[in-house]
Amino acid sequence: MTVPPAIRTDHQPFFISPLAFLRWTDFRCPHCHAVFRKDFWPDHVRLGSGERTCSGCAKVFDDGSREWPEMKFGRKLRFLLPPGILAMTGSLLFCAIFTLCIAPTDVVNWHIGVIIVGGSLLPTIVWCLIRLVPVNRSNLRYEHDPASMRRRLERAES
Ligand SMILES: [Zn+2]
Repeated sequence: MTVPPAIRTDHQPFFISPLAFLRWTDFRCPHCHAVFRKDFWPDHVRLGSGERTCSGCAKVFDDGSREWPEMKFGRKLRFLLPPGILAMTGSLLFCAIFTLCIAPTDVVNWHIGVIIVGGSLLPTIVWCLIRLVPVNRSNLRYEHDPASMRRRLERAES
């Protein structure tokens, strides 16, 4: 038995206003069309069994989330390093390298280089460590979740 996927609708209503950056995506129940989630971040990767029971009609549908072992490498990477974190990492790394380039040569040595570059990567490392908590929970859920098990069996049959 496969469950129907959620209905996804992208909105970008303020294309003329100063809020042009504001966009969101609605996710609706395929049975009663009730909105169950709004994402303001495009292509947000979510961990979960994938099956959700609608609070409006009590029917089950696929909300698009997947458990960690089911995700492909690119999705896993996007979960650990979403675009905002990548932008922050790139900016901090650029600033660190720029600082090393303009610093007087008698001050810069490899210790200072490691400290500055490592310090610029520290927020990203802390972020990834925090993200490992839901990944661990997802791995534990995956072993016992009936929806994940069913998808595994369906993949094995096809
Ligand atoms: Zn519904």
